[in-house]
Amino acid sequence: MIRLLKYSKPYLVMVLFSVGLLFAQANLELALPDYLSNVVDTGIQQGGVENAVPIAIRQSEMERLFIFMSEENETVVLADYTLIDENSSDYDSYLEEYPVLINQSIYVLNDDRNTEIKELNQIITVPIVVVFTLEQLLANPENATEMFERLNITLPPLPPEELADFFFSMLSFIPFENITVISGVITETFEAIGETMLDQVAVAAIRIEYEIIGLDTDSIQNLYILEAGGLMLLMTLLAVICTIAVSYLASRTAAGMARDIRSDVFKKIENFSSTEFDKFSTASLITRSTNDVTQIQSVTYMIVRMVFYAPILGVGGIIRALNKSTSMWWIIAVAVLVLIVLITIVFFIALPKFKAMQSLTDRINLVARESLSGMLVIRAFNKEKFEEKRFDKANLDITAVILFINRLMVILMPFMMLVLNGLSLGIIWIGAHQVAAASMQVGDMMAFMQYAMQIVFAFLMLTMMFIVLPRAVVSGKRINEVLVTEPAIKDPENPKIFPDSFKGSIEFRDVTFRYPGAKKSALENINFTAKPGETTAFIGSTGSGKSTVVNLIPRFYDITEGSILIDGVDIREVTQHSLRDKIGYVPQKSSLFSGTIESNLLFADEDATDEDLQLAIEIAQAEEFVSSSIEGMRREIAQGGSNVSGGQKQRLSIARALVKKPPIYIFDDSVSALDFKTDAALRKALKQKTGDSTVLIVTQRVSTIKNAEQIIVIDDGKIVGKGTHDELMKTSDIYSEIASSQLELEESS
Ligand code: ADP
Ligand code: MG
Repeated sequence: MIRLLKYSKPYLVMVLFSVGLLFAQANLELALPDYLSNVVDTGIQQGGVENAVPIAIRQSEMERLFIFMSEENETVVLADYTLIDENSSDYDSYLEEYPVLINQSIYVLNDDRNTEIKELNQIITVPIVVVFTLEQLLANPENATEMFERLNITLPPLPPEELADFFFSMLSFIPFENITVISGVITETFEAIGETMLDQVAVAAIRIEYEIIGLDTDSIQNLYILEAGGLMLLMTLLAVICTIAVSYLASRTAAGMARDIRSDVFKKIENFSSTEFDKFSTASLITRSTNDVTQIQSVTYMIVRMVFYAPILGVGGIIRALNKSTSMWWIIAVAVLVLIVLITIVFFIALPKFKAMQSLTDRINLVARESLSGMLVIRAFNKEKFEEKRFDKANLDITAVILFINRLMVILMPFMMLVLNGLSLGIIWIGAHQVAAASMQVGDMMAFMQYAMQIVFAFLMLTMMFIVLPRAVVSGKRINEVLVTEPAIKDPENPKIFPDSFKGSIEFRDVTFRYPGAKKSALENINFTAKPGETTAFIGSTGSGKSTVVNLIPRFYDITEGSILIDGVDIREVTQHSLRDKIGYVPQKSSLFSGTIESNLLFADEDATDEDLQLAIEIAQAEEFVSSSIEGMRREIAQGGSNVSGGQKQRLSIARALVKKPPIYIFDDSVSALDFKTDAALRKALKQKTGDSTVLIVTQRVSTIKNAEQIIVIDDGKIVGKGTHDELMKTSDIYSEIASSQLELEESS
C-alpha cells in the first residue's frame, strides 16, 4: 500500500487544492448553525434587534443614559451620534423615517463610526437596562415600593410623566460613584436570573424606544431574517460548489492513479516469462489488474473526499459547539464514545471477511475463465452440470461473504441512528432546562445540536474509512506483489549485438533444462548445430521434449545448464528483442488475434507490402481459402481464430511467420492439421522461399522431413539419433520404427 503512494505524486497539486476546498466547505457548513441561531435568537426573539446600540434614540432618553455613564464613555458615545433637529440639513428625509422628530430632537447613529459596535454595546447596555427599568418602575410606583426602599429613595407624589422627569433630573445631581451603586443593584437583579438576561432586557428596551420614535419595527425584523436567510443560502450554494469541485478533483485523482497503476501492472505482466505466469495464474493476474486496482481507486476517492474533510469538520465543530455551550460537551463525548465502541466491534468482525473477498474473486474468475474457454470440451463430455456446480460453489462462497458483511452493516445502521437520536434528545432535554433558566437561548441550543451532529458525522466518516481501508490494503498488497516480481528472464545490462553479416547458425552446447518447480529435467545434454540454408528436424513421441527444445531458442524459458549460441553469440547476452527479431516462430498451438486476416499478417511486420502478404499467403497454401470469400484479405477473424479451421489457422500462422522474412524459422508441429498433399506443396514452396535461412521443424511425420539435411530423434529429453533419413533408417531403431509404420500407412492411403 505504502509503495503505491508514489502513484499519487502527479496528483499532489490536485489533492492540495482539494484540501483547500474542503477547508472552505467545512467552514461554510460550520457557519450555518451559527446563522440559524441568529435567526432564532435575534431575528425572531429579539425582533431583528442585534444589540443594545440604538440606530436612533430620543435626545431626552440619551441624556438619561448619560447619567449612568462615566464622562469618558459619554464622549465616546457622543462622537458616534449626530443630533438631528428642525435646523438639520436633511430634516425632511429624517422626519419621514423618524416621525417623532415633529416634537423632539433625536440622536442618530453615524454610518462611519470611530468605535466598534461591540465596544459601544458594552458601554450602553447597563445604562439602557437601568434607565428602562427605572422608567417601568416609575410608571407604576405603587408596585415597586420595595425596590425604591432598597435604593433608599422616597418618591414625591407626582403624576407619572412628571415623576420620571423629576426623578432623572434629581439623579443628575448625584455624583457618579453613588450612581453606580443604583445601577449595580438593578443589574444584579437581572444577572441573578441568567447570564443572557441583561442583553435581552437591553434589546427589549431598544425595541420600545424604536416604537416611540416611530420606526417600522416589523420591517427591521423582516430585513434581518431575510438578510441572514440570504446569507445562509449563499453559503449553502458555495458549499455545494466546493463539494462538486472536490468530487471532480477526487475523481480525477483516483481515476488517474488507477490508470497509472493498471498500466504499470500490465507492462510488468507483459515482461513476465512463462515462469511468472505459472506462478500467479492468469485468472489472478486479471483480477489484480482490474478488480484490485478498482478497489484502490474507490478508496483513493474516499480518502481525498473524507480523510481530510472529517478532521476539519470535527475540530471546527468542537470549537464552535464549545462556544455555544461549555456545559453540554459531555453529551457529545458519550455519543462519540458509544459510536467508536460500536464500530470497533463491527470492524473486527468484518475484517477477516474483507480479506477473504479478494481471493474469492480470484477463484470465481478462474472458474469462469476455464469454463468459458473450455466450453466445447465441457459440452462434448456432457460436463455442464459439473461445471455449473463448480461455478455455483465459487459463486455461493462469495455471496455468503458479501451477505454477511451487508447484514452486519444493516444491523449497524439502526444502532447508529439510535445513538444519533439519543444525542439530539439529550441535548434538548438538558438544553431546555438551561433555556428555562435563561442561561441559554433557544437558537444557541439548536445550533449546538447541529454542531453535535456534525462532530458525530466527522467521527463516523473517519471510522468508515477504517472499515474500507483494510480491503484496499489487501488489494494494494496483491498489486504490489505483481509490481515487485522480477521476471526470471531479463535482458543483460550491456547487451551484445549480432554481427552485421548474420547467418543464423544455432548451436546447442550440452543443454540441460528443467521446468521451474519440476523434479526431473525435461532435457538432458542436448548437443547439435543447425546450419543456415539447411533444415533441421526434430522427431519423437509426444512428451519427449521436442517443443521444449525449440521454445528455448526464443528464450521463453532460460536453460538450466549449458549454452545456446546463435552465430557464436550466447542468446542470454543479447536483448530479447533483437533475438526474437531474427526468429519466425510458428507455435504448436497457433493463435490468431481478433481482426482481419490482413491485420494478423501485418502483426509480423507493419511495413509489409501487399505483394509480401500475397506471396506469404501463396507459400503457406492459404491462397485458396483466402480467395474463397468475398472479403479476401479483409475476412474477419474472431478472437483466438475460432471462426477458421485448425488447418486454416496453421496456414495463416505460417504465412504470418513468412511475412517477417526472418533468418531463422521455427515450425513447432505446424503442419499436423494439414493433409499430406497440402503438406507436400507447402514444403516445396517453403524450400524455395526460405533459401539461406536456418529452418527448424518439429514434427511427428516422417514424410515431412524425409529430405531434411539433419534429423534429430528425441526420446525422453535425450537425443537418441542424429543424421539424414537414410542414415537414421540404418542406425536408429526408434526412427526406423516410426518411419516404417508411417510410410506404410501413407503408401496404403
Ligand atoms: P513434445 O515433444 O510433445 O513437444 P514437450 O516439449 O511439450 O513435448 O514436453 C516435454 C515434457 O515437459 C513433458 O513431459 C511435459 O509434461 C513437460 N512440460 C511441458 N511444458 C511444461 C511446463 N510449462 N511446465 C512443466 N512441465 C512441462
Ligand atoms: Mg510439442
